[in-house]
Amino acid sequence: MKRWIAILTAAALVVPAAAPAEEDDLMIEEIVENVLLDDTGEEIPLPAAAPAAQAAVTVFTPSYASAWPIREGETGYWTLPMDITDETAVWEMLMAPITVVDTGKDSGEKTQTYLYREPDESSLKVGVVTCESQGVRVLETREDGWSLVECYSSSFHATKVEAWNLLVSGYIPTKYLKQVSPNPDLGIVVDKLTQRMYIFQDGKLLSTLLCSTGLVMWNGSKYQPYNETRSGEFLLMSKVGTLISDRLYCDMAIRFNSGDMMHEVPHVKNADGTKNYGSTEYKLGTKCSHGCIRVQRNKTPEGINMSWIWNQVKSGSKVKFVIWEDWQGRQIAVPDADTPLYYNPNKGNYYHRSSFCYSAKAITFQPFTYGELDQEPFSKLKQCPFCGPPLREAEIQAVNERYAEGGDHDELLTSLQAGYYEYLQQN
Ligand SMILES: [Zn+2]
Repeated sequence: MKRWIAILTAAALVVPAAAPAEEDDLMIEEIVENVLLDDTGEEIPLPAAAPAAQAAVTVFTPSYASAWPIREGETGYWTLPMDITDETAVWEMLMAPITVVDTGKDSGEKTQTYLYREPDESSLKVGVVTCESQGVRVLETREDGWSLVECYSSSFHATKVEAWNLLVSGYIPTKYLKQVSPNPDLGIVVDKLTQRMYIFQDGKLLSTLLCSTGLVMWNGSKYQPYNETRSGEFLLMSKVGTLISDRLYCDMAIRFNSGDMMHEVPHVKNADGTKNYGSTEYKLGTKCSHGCIRVQRNKTPEGINMSWIWNQVKSGSKVKFVIWEDWQGRQIAVPDADTPLYYNPNKGNYYHRSSFCYSAKAITFQPFTYGELDQEPFSKLKQCPFCGPPLREAEIQAVNERYAEGGDHDELLTSLQAGYYEYLQQN
């Protein structure tokens, strides 16, 4: 992942862009973009994707592509395999102390600082870390007052270090590092591979929700590699409330990484003032935001939705919130054929994961099995947007093909990340 050769040949120029069209850009004051221009000012098309990483191991952890091997006795977010079914291990990780960066500034949760190539502030900046909320993996604590740390770079669009969601390591003054014990009652995991949010309480997986993380895209005038949600280990910070951008309302936003927030799936207002989720809600379960995490408003069978999270989380309550990277090579497991599912035999349109669902509170469902899902009469049923049952096998296979080892599930992002390696080589 980190060792291939940058193939960009042109200098990256920074030019101002038009105002953003969606919610998440609201939090950033200065908006810039990158395009590649040749000597005459003509735009150069982006290069083809770089060669994929050679996977040396098959256990995927957040530090999977790290150059720094897991040390004996090292535990926590960075070393835990991304397996949501191991509830005990996930809970221990969510309760483990987090090392954050605190430079002592007021309103520090909106500020960022840099990681340096050498233990020296005049050396090259190699990564960006968000203060107070973002956790770092401490690799080495030195006697000269510096520490070597690793994290996914929190590069947003106005950044000087364009390491878009790349796992980076660099030096930071040890005096900025602070260990924090997270909230003991609640912890949350988002997996970018499954596009699901997992709520943990009292040592158990309480509920699974549909969510959407960021989608890298071409929006008509610019590529947006900074849309890719930055993975990592975070603390939930201030409850911001409603973000409004263009016509999109994003209710119950909670900041966790500078301009990245968790919030309810956006809506627009109908002429009569009512909320309309028609253009956004059906995309839950797939990447589509500008970096924020969109969360379902429909209640799961356990009664969980964004409102529940908003009510549980107090500003400053230090709830740990982790995001699992969708490393190429990861795969979604196909459920066992005897996994129970439910439906309403009286003209029901959906299949459900629970015998009770808030989409049809008064209806008694009948059980069937996952193995029967592609047979009549179940083959016509759609995935319930409340209880979020498993994807159909063909849908899982489609995801797994995109993420197959040796492939590249996001060639656009890979090509846009190439500029970072060029930057390292040239400096
Ligand atoms: Zn349902």
